[in-house]
This record gives sequence, C-alpha cells and structure tokens, in this order.
Amino acid sequence: MTDNTVSFGRRNVAPDEKTRLVQGVFDRVAARYDVMNDIMSFGTHRLFKRMLVERTGLREGQYVLDLAGGTGDMAALLAPVVGEHGLVALTDLNGDMMQVGRDRLLDDGVACVQFCRAPAERLPFASDSFHCAVISFGLRNFTSKETAFAELARVLKPGGRLLVLEFAKPDDATLGSLYKGFQALWPGIGKALVGDAEPYRYLVESIEKHPKQKALALMMRDAGFIDVAYHDLLGGVAAIHEGVSP
Ligand code: SAM
Repeated sequence: MTDNTVSFGRRNVAPDEKTRLVQGVFDRVAARYDVMNDIMSFGTHRLFKRMLVERTGLREGQYVLDLAGGTGDMAALLAPVVGEHGLVALTDLNGDMMQVGRDRLLDDGVACVQFCRAPAERLPFASDSFHCAVISFGLRNFTSKETAFAELARVLKPGGRLLVLEFAKPDDATLGSLYKGFQALWPGIGKALVGDAEPYRYLVESIEKHPKQKALALMMRDAGFIDVAYHDLLGGVAAIHEGVSP
C-alpha cells in the first residue's frame, strides 16, 4: 500500500478511484436504498436516526447541514425541528440518492430543505454557516475523513455541534461474532431481493474497515473538535460520535 491510497472495502485504491467507485455503489442501490435499509436493519436505523436528532439540541430557526444525506431520512426528521425559518442543507455526492430524497420531501410538503450535490471533502458553503452538522451512515464511505472533518470544522459556527451516526464495533466478543455472522448474510439478501450482491459486499467490507469508536473520537479531536464523546447503540453495533467546533 502506498501512502496516497485509501480503502474501498478490502481494496486499496487511489482517492479519485474510491470516489468513483462509491458513486457507482450508490448509483446501483439508490432506487431500493430505503426498503433495503428497513429489511436489513429490521427498522433499527430509524430508531438510531431519531436518537441522533434528539442529541443535536437544534432549535427552531437554526441551520443544519445533513452531510451525505442521501435519500433524505435525516432531513425529514430535522426539518420539523428547525421549522420554516430554519434550514436543512442536504448535501451528498450522489445525484440519484438525492433525487429519491427530493421527490419524497417535495411530496411530503417539506419546505426548508435545500439540496446541494458536493463531496464532503469540498463543501461549497461559507465558513461559520451552520449551527449543527450531522452525518448518518455516510462517514465510512468518504474518500478522506480527515479532509471532511476539517471542512466541517470550517463550515460550523464556533460552538456548533457535529454528530456522526455510523456502524461501529461491539466490545463484547460474542455480540461481535453474532453481528459479523449476520452481516455475512447481507450480500445474499441483496442478491435475492434486488439481484445485486456487490453493493452489499462493499457495505460489509466498509464496516470492517471503519475505525473503532476510540480511534474515530481521536480523529475528531485531531481535526480540532472539542468535548468529543461517543455513545454506543445496541452494544456497539452502531455509535453516535459528537463534538463541538472550536
Ligand atoms: N444519510 C443517509 C441515511 O442515513 O440513510 C444516507 C446514507 S448512505 C449509506 C451514504 C451516503 O453517503 C450516500 O448517499 C453517498 O452518496 C454519500 N457519500 C459517500 N461518499 C461521500 C462523499 N465523499 N461526500 C458526500 N457524500 C458521500
């Protein structure tokens, strides 16, 4: 592995190649993303997302960045919290994922969400723009977490909160093995239900490669975030990391 490669699942690839491959993964899953999420998580992702929103501390009229917002689950939960005088900026690399979200939110009459196609590593927002930023199940796909954290620190107002919901690693060995065994079924479920195992194989590998909770907390501190903490969900199957922009 040379210094400038990054992991795409178990493979090491050039950064541009990772961005292209991740785009391809979400191009393939966009249309069935929401239904597969419900099936493969038994709906628990909805609970985790609600917990994330509760931890934001957002108030009416505030501005929140929903980074890697995809099909708009988080935006739909955040919009009523910030209200019509607030703003949810749903930003994502993938136009197909956002199109699903845009259709859904427009159909639901949600007015305070704006969509912006951009990579997490180059956010097209002015410094000090947001009171809060959330990333739900997006971070492990980023081409550079470090660059994305630096961008988040820039676009958040001083004192603004960053919350990251992501798959994690259970401390308990038995739970860890059970969870790995369950994940091993995902490519087969993908093949059976949508005729495509590859995106779900990448999903499993990307979870495997994602840093453990403590390492991720350290990465956030290195990016300048203060009061960094994390909360395990379901014994560490997932975790919410949070930090405050200096
Ligand atoms: N946040 C949504 C949710 O919780 O359901 C979507 C999560 S989906 C698993 C991951 C999203 O991250 C995809 O929509 C993908 O396009 C986006 N993504 C991946 N890499 C990205 C990057 N470098 N910058 C912005 N978005 C990215």
